[in-house]
Amino acid sequence: MLADSSPSMRHDSPTNAAQGWADLDRRELIYVCVVFGFVPALLIAMLAATALFGDVPSWFGWAGGAGGMAVFFGASAYLQGFRCPRCGERFFAPSRNTSKACAHCNLRRGTASPSS
Ligand SMILES: [Zn+2]
Repeated sequence: MLADSSPSMRHDSPTNAAQGWADLDRRELIYVCVVFGFVPALLIAMLAATALFGDVPSWFGWAGGAGGMAVFFGASAYLQGFRCPRCGERFFAPSRNTSKACAHCNLRRGTASPSS
């Protein structure tokens, strides 16, 4: 069996890079919405629970906290999973959710053509 695992077979075009950055923008938008939407969403859920049950249920605190944490970590993992359009490695260094350039090949974010 012929095993060709060369990673240099990728030929990225500017279109692919633009799609990559659009994907990154979408992942960041989701992350920002989760971070800044958590408190308003929790307040709306508290109002809804009060309207439905007459009071905020005792399980609301841990359910809201656990649910919020799960959604936050999910959005964070989704953002961290973004792959660089040029090298295909993870764009962000571990423990960092924002960066202006790829942690591996230093491709600057928004660069039209990923060819070096
Ligand atoms: Zn890269």
